[in-house]
Amino acid sequence: MPWGARGNHQPKANRNRQTYSSPWQQKIAQQRKSLPIAPVEKRLIQEVRKNDILIIVGETGSGKTTQIPQFLFDAEFCRDGKVIGITQPRRVAAVTVAKRVADECGVELGQKVGYSVRFDDSTSNSTRIKYMTDGLLLREALLDQYLSKYSVIIVDEAHERTVHTDVLLGLLKRVQVARSKSISDGQNLKNGNKSSPLKLIIMSASLDARTFSEYFGDAKAVHIQGRQFPVDLFYTRFPETDYLDAALITIFQVHLGEPPGDILVFLTGQEEIESVERLINERLTNTKLPEGSQKLLPVPIFAALPSEQQMRAFAPASSGFRKVILATNIAETSITIPGIKYVIDPGLVKARSYDPGKGMESLIVVPTSKSQALQRSGRAGREGPGKCFRLYPENEFEKLEDSTMPEIKRCNLANVILQLKALGVDDILGFDFIEKPSRTAIVKSLEQLFLLGALTDDCQLSDPVGRQMARLPLDPIYSKALILASEYNCLEEMLITVAMLSVESIFYTPRDKYEEVRMATKCFASPEGDHITLINVYRAAIDLLEKRTMGTNKAKSEKVLRKWCKENFINSRSLRHARDIHRQIKGHAQQMGLKLASCGDDMLQFRRCLVASFFLNAAVKQPDGTYRALASGEVVQIHPSSVLFRKKPECIIFNELIQTTNKYVRNLTRVDHLWLTELAPQFYAMQN
Ligand code: ADP
Ligand code: MG
Repeated sequence: MPWGARGNHQPKANRNRQTYSSPWQQKIAQQRKSLPIAPVEKRLIQEVRKNDILIIVGETGSGKTTQIPQFLFDAEFCRDGKVIGITQPRRVAAVTVAKRVADECGVELGQKVGYSVRFDDSTSNSTRIKYMTDGLLLREALLDQYLSKYSVIIVDEAHERTVHTDVLLGLLKRVQVARSKSISDGQNLKNGNKSSPLKLIIMSASLDARTFSEYFGDAKAVHIQGRQFPVDLFYTRFPETDYLDAALITIFQVHLGEPPGDILVFLTGQEEIESVERLINERLTNTKLPEGSQKLLPVPIFAALPSEQQMRAFAPASSGFRKVILATNIAETSITIPGIKYVIDPGLVKARSYDPGKGMESLIVVPTSKSQALQRSGRAGREGPGKCFRLYPENEFEKLEDSTMPEIKRCNLANVILQLKALGVDDILGFDFIEKPSRTAIVKSLEQLFLLGALTDDCQLSDPVGRQMARLPLDPIYSKALILASEYNCLEEMLITVAMLSVESIFYTPRDKYEEVRMATKCFASPEGDHITLINVYRAAIDLLEKRTMGTNKAKSEKVLRKWCKENFINSRSLRHARDIHRQIKGHAQQMGLKLASCGDDMLQFRRCLVASFFLNAAVKQPDGTYRALASGEVVQIHPSSVLFRKKPECIIFNELIQTTNKYVRNLTRVDHLWLTELAPQFYAMQN
């Protein structure tokens, strides 16, 4: 008997379906019907009804993320105002997929379909299909431990194994049990919601469902057959010394030598994407392409890009154009961009790395795993045969790890522990992690939280500091900085600092052009360091918007700002993103009752506050001009982009450690060595 013939839900479900009328809607309906997942809708819904936990494995692009929530909606999983929640490891995916699904449903974004990510929420009371980041759902659990409004939670991209996904899996296990218990006890959930079971769906692009299935007590796993055309693989003969240059050459070789079809290039971050975008544009202006050949259109996609620009990647290129999409590994499995025929893969990815012994976390560019390389090449063969150019020799492929190590094993756990503590999980070592982080990493992170004043002597969340820190959607160290800044009367300065540090790069610093940039940005540079320099930039931009564009409309003032940014080597995208973040965290700070004051020109006060907050990141100069980080003993150098690169002060506070050939610290401020013992005695008095 076909599903739907039973029960009495079917007529209503039909009413919920869209009736497709316009040609655009007909086209979307056609596309939806042709996805590999379409024929198994009924079977999937049956499985969800039968199993409280279901694992769905399916090749990238088969339609899991966009279709399954709609199937569930049509099958009445949103009865009584309940919501279907879908988590994504990355905000770009949450935002772009939500937009796509709103289009598919023919509704306005934020109505039936919406997204919610840190610093950006499009949902409303009518939202029934809600895309969000895994980190955001963790925060929601702080406010409602039953996650009452959800009937189904889908943890998507579980194979990525981000630290938030891993913690979420453990948490959802508990929520599910708690919900079942509240039903048997006849309790109501938050806001008087009647208790109902919570369905969990774990979705993954990797074929290995075993880990998840075992973790959830041999949960049922279903596989969705994908569709994949052959992809020809090409390797370089020798290792490339400059992979960006190699990528650029390959882009033009494909463009000039291969039949139509879009190109997808995997890069490691915003800075790289923007510099390749610039190089392509430069080369396009400087070289004359053969008469009548296609034009080439670089299209970047990364998190800090405004969402309307992110959507450009999905729009088909106008006729006569070939798109070259410049993406980070979001395009690996999280989003599927139609029209890709050629993939260029330098074989690298930016990842977090953590040395628990030293308590140091850093960002580092590392080779991808084999499974990542396979996912990347697979992107070329979705709509027809394709080609993938790996910018490394074939024997290097054999040396790659099979799969990536889960993030929880290579990151600082302070943030996660703070959240778990706030959720009432006291025994962190005993928490049911899908994969346990090392004991050293847990202990080190507990120690850090203790030093920041978030935990009491007996490892309980402190009140109010620990509770306040858990409420802020920031790294614990930044949350603490805001709380302290309120006491130091420099919260306005710290809000700007945290916002500016939360974006990838405010200055355009083309490699080898640090000096030029330094000259151009001299007017902002503070002799005290980068933090105050960033504040100067922010304030100059706000001044400009307020003074020079008074009375003009928003579009015009944005244009003035963009021009000003360009003249000053400032990345207007990053600046815009920082302004958004600033607005949001200011709201949080006000809600928490923090005192919003400015220290005016008294930057001494602000620098002392930096020491009180970031004392774990202090470093002192050594005779050879390198620095020794005091907490870890690590030898580091000042990054050439810093305003203090030449000055080399005796003692610094820094915010970021990056590893390339050397270990560099970035975003630093000159401080007085004596302040360390004075302002952070909990750490430095002990050391003495
Ligand atoms: P999966 O989750 O299984 O990887 P998705 O549901 O993300 O698959 O994608 C299904 C299809 O929807 C793909 O063909 C993809 O190209 C298309 N798609 C997704 N987002 C968009 C978008 N914003 N614009 C156009 N097509 C999209
Ligand atoms: Mg998906």
